[in-house]
Amino acid sequence: MTQAFQKVSALRGMNDALPGVGARWEQLEAIVRDWLAGYGYRNLRTPVLEYTRLFTRGIGEVTDIVEKEMYTFTDALNGDSLTLRPEMTAGMVRATIEHNLLYDRPQRVYAMGPVFRHERPQRGRYRQFHQIDVEALGFAGPDVDAELIVMLGRLWQRMGLTDVRLELNSLGQAEERAAHRAALITYLESHKDVLDEDGLRRMYSNPLRVLDTKNPAMQAMADAAPRLFDFLGDESRAHFDGVCKRLDDAGIGYRLNPRLVRGLDYYNLTVFEWVTDRIGAQGTVCGGGRYDGLIALLGGKPNPAVGFAIGMERLLELWEQAGEREAEPECDVYIVHQGEDAQRLAAKVGERLRDVGLAVIVHAGSGSFKAQFKRADTSGARVAVILGADEVASETASVKYLRGAGDAAPAQQQVPLAALPEVLKSKG
Ligand code: ATP
Ligand code: MG
Repeated sequence: MTQAFQKVSALRGMNDALPGVGARWEQLEAIVRDWLAGYGYRNLRTPVLEYTRLFTRGIGEVTDIVEKEMYTFTDALNGDSLTLRPEMTAGMVRATIEHNLLYDRPQRVYAMGPVFRHERPQRGRYRQFHQIDVEALGFAGPDVDAELIVMLGRLWQRMGLTDVRLELNSLGQAEERAAHRAALITYLESHKDVLDEDGLRRMYSNPLRVLDTKNPAMQAMADAAPRLFDFLGDESRAHFDGVCKRLDDAGIGYRLNPRLVRGLDYYNLTVFEWVTDRIGAQGTVCGGGRYDGLIALLGGKPNPAVGFAIGMERLLELWEQAGEREAEPECDVYIVHQGEDAQRLAAKVGERLRDVGLAVIVHAGSGSFKAQFKRADTSGARVAVILGADEVASETASVKYLRGAGDAAPAQQQVPLAALPEVLKSKG
């Protein structure tokens, strides 16, 4: 006797996007591609799986991601340590170096796709989620920093999103961070009593990250800590001012947030986040900044770079909230039929209609006209095409307008098959 198969569910924190929702994803992706093309960004696709050392080096050992969020495993065939990408920048930079993309010019590139982090699943926080990752490689800024931020403002506008605010900071350069770091460690040493476990562990290894805590008990301490911004030299300040001026030019408002340090180790100068209160506690929709040291850190010829990543689930949720949208129809035309001859004719008619750009579902199998019409209706099709024995004989189709046909169109009409594509197309 065979045993009943135990149903297999999806992994916790990894979501299915069901067909209606999948359609929204596709709409979003189409908007995003068009938006990015408008600024000259080109698609760069890298693998989901990389050597673990790319991320430990590229993201930094003392980060949430590397310390506790990576899906890392040993390749059973050869013992390599591999990791599902927890973010895309490291892979994009690896590919850029590996294929020498910066040898004669800078590059504007982007990718969209899944990333993986072993976090506690909750609203806006998943274990497989998706990012739009945009990188301007080989540009020193501040014009490009500002362009990226302005671009994002345009995307929100285009999607009808309000209530997304910009937070901005500068992390300066390595020497400035070193001076600040020394002051910060002294400060943290004198506040050991309020540090949690992560804080104590990172106090010496990554003190800046101690301030990026989400622990409410540490907020007051973090707020009063020495600010990196106060340690910036003239050049770093000039870069920051250059970004601010250009944001002013574009009419983009921002708030200087000296506590904004970002979770990844490789940032310098400009860092920013776009945040909203509309989608619950996980309100950061986009984070980015400059990372001039990363390309060299990963073995490339030194080159400046700046980029950002948008969390697509959060963006989609915000978009849903921004307005009611009608469900996408599954097709323009639904063909119903009766009898084998009509069914075979329906398949041919379907192709002729697709030739003129219509989306067509030919009813599969058989069934009463009534049942088929019900399907036609739920498909969202604008038009039902009816093929029965009479239509086969007379080489015509009955056309029934299911919705939004306009005043001129009759509820039902008889159309010669040869004219059908043009008639239905023009009613588009
Ligand atoms: P957070 O502080 O929320 O953990 P992060 O600093 O780890 O964010 P980034 O590494 O900057 O996030 O990733 C860029 C964007 O990806 C975030 O701004 C957010 O919109 C989204 N994101 C990050 N982690 C998740 C997740 N686990 N689930 C869904 N979206 C996420
Ligand atoms: Mg995180």
